[in-house]
Amino acid sequence: MQRFEGLWKSRRSNVVECFDCQRKQEVSGAATSTICPSCSAHIDLSDYKITTNFSRSVRTKGEVYVTTKGDLSSSSVRCRRALIEGRLRGNLDCAGTIVINTSGKIPGRISASEIVIEKRAEVQFFRRVRVGNIEIRGRVLGEVVADGMVTIRKNGVLEGNVTAKAINVEKGGTFSGQIVVGRGALQQAELLSNETPTVSNPPEGSISLARPLPAT
Ligand SMILES: [Zn+2]
Repeated sequence: MQRFEGLWKSRRSNVVECFDCQRKQEVSGAATSTICPSCSAHIDLSDYKITTNFSRSVRTKGEVYVTTKGDLSSSSVRCRRALIEGRLRGNLDCAGTIVINTSGKIPGRISASEIVIEKRAEVQFFRRVRVGNIEIRGRVLGEVVADGMVTIRKNGVLEGNVTAKAINVEKGGTFSGQIVVGRGALQQAELLSNETPTVSNPPEGSISLARPLPAT
């Protein structure tokens, strides 16, 4: 958590983008809200520390921290970054990184530019996870759609289908599932077109590769 907090607290000012019109502005690191100079929309900048049941919708440029006793069940949470150490039952969309350091089922829609699954975390995603890059140090069961790289670290496990630009399974990491890798893979998988997707060669390490996604 220190490392996580350090990323934000050290900043004197932040550039934030309006949720509605995408106009960027610089704000003080201490500010808890601001007004968009273009469209006058209110922009929440506050951080949310969730230590109990929480079901309100949140739209903030700040961070969301769900503690071990926290239970986030909101249908819509948008934030800059999130650290999940408790339950996550709702939908979560982060412009930056989601760090998951908890175990259990995650039924909601999860998207972020980066997701990190920490070492002791064992999670099952019920819905397809949409992400830029994902780094797996723990265990993940579920489907991952990544614009960028899927990295499975030593002792990390990913069971489920993957669509990504690239996948990197480090020695001691395990991947089992179907895989679509390479340019255009995302679109092909989404559209279920008849073109044959590009499939990677199995990387070194303990990896079991299934056949590519059937093009139906
Ligand atoms: Zn605006």
